[in-house]
Amino acid sequence: MTASSAPPVPMNDLSRGMVRDHASLAAAFEGVLATGYVVMGPQHAAFQTALAEYLGAAHVLGVASGTDALELAIKATMPSGRGTVLTAANAGGYTTVAATRAGYRVAFADVDAGSLCLSLETVAPALSEDVGVVVVTHLYGNLTEITDLVDFCHARGIRVVEDCAQSIGARRAGRAAGTFGDAATISFYPTKNLGAIGDGGAVVTSDPDIADTVARLRQYGWSSKYRVDTPGGTNSRLDELQAAFLLARLPLLDGFNERRRHIIERYREAAGDGTVRVLPAAGPHHVGHLAVAVADDRDAVRQELSALGVQTDIHFPVPDFAQPGFDVDRDALPTTVRAVSQIFSLPCFPELTDHEVDRVCDALSAWHP
Ligand SMILES: *Cc1c(COP(=O)(O)O)cnc(C)c1O
Repeated sequence: MTASSAPPVPMNDLSRGMVRDHASLAAAFEGVLATGYVVMGPQHAAFQTALAEYLGAAHVLGVASGTDALELAIKATMPSGRGTVLTAANAGGYTTVAATRAGYRVAFADVDAGSLCLSLETVAPALSEDVGVVVVTHLYGNLTEITDLVDFCHARGIRVVEDCAQSIGARRAGRAAGTFGDAATISFYPTKNLGAIGDGGAVVTSDPDIADTVARLRQYGWSSKYRVDTPGGTNSRLDELQAAFLLARLPLLDGFNERRRHIIERYREAAGDGTVRVLPAAGPHHVGHLAVAVADDRDAVRQELSALGVQTDIHFPVPDFAQPGFDVDRDALPTTVRAVSQIFSLPCFPELTDHEVDRVCDALSAWHP
């Protein structure tokens, strides 16, 4: 294999989806202009209903981002008298930002070595009396199994929030990610599996009280116009344009997810079970948000891939407890620390061409045993 002179296979290229969806996005834009509504209008209502139906949840509440969704979901689920959010330290720091903004302490549990997500076995020893909410991130697109974890938490008065920013559309036995805990959060950041043309997010729940609280919190704490009954409110709304774009793309989501899974399975076959191993993404419980590989000599592998014309990245390079900008306790979580030194991500988005996928596979085959 020789160094490639073609442009590198990119980690992402948002322009491709905009070109592909141009007609439907332009029609959505025109539809909003025709109504005169800019927030909390008919597109927003229609999208909330369509997504709730798709997920099989009673309520979807549009908000301005996935991080806002986490903040409001945490506020709406924290039992009174408690003040700590327990989460994983390898999921990009979004929960730590959100919990801190909500005014709570953050503690971390280690992750399962196979899924790199929280599990009952890792959460149980990390609990304290003050933990009121456990946020489980379904990392990389994998709807991790949490029914036993949810039961365990509920028996102790603890609520569970699922962070589905990377796992929208994942299902186990037909049941969608986001319907296992008390509430769930989604991000529509443009690189997510269902991406807007800007920021957006949603809280998902089938609990009417949580839904009602989030509905108030996202509009200043209002119970009705200009009447603030719920403390801790903010302004966090999903605007009409983003809702219209998302409504246009929702029917494409299952196809996007299938394509992502297919790309990752190609990479897996190409790398084999050698010194570079691509994490599996087969089956409806995985929606292939990221194609993550592990290697002991990760930095050297990334350099060689770069020379072969394949971009890579690391999701995520610094555990939350080692971030200087977070005011949290330093923690020794062995699985988290080991994984952070080994992981890297390969290009994975639905608009990659077959030729680009072949180029990544050719590059990976250098490590096939
Ligand atoms: C992207 C992401 C978020 C945050 O979403 P934003 O819309 O960017 O605020 C939260 N959690 C995870 C796991 C994410 O990947």
